[in-house]
Amino acid sequence: MCDACGANVTSDQMAMVGATSEGGRRPRQFHALCFRIWDNERHVAPEPTV
Ligand SMILES: [Zn+2]
Repeated sequence: MCDACGANVTSDQMAMVGATSEGGRRPRQFHALCFRIWDNERHVAPEPTV
């Protein structure tokens, strides 16, 4: 299932797995297009202040 849009990801839809280091979560899986959108949003998101 795509973590971005919530639809199923089939093998012919160029699924991409995002290896995140968020600690213990399952790998995120996206459609190729959804991954690009998600990855872009990830970069523009404000850094959490520690
Ligand atoms: Zn998707």
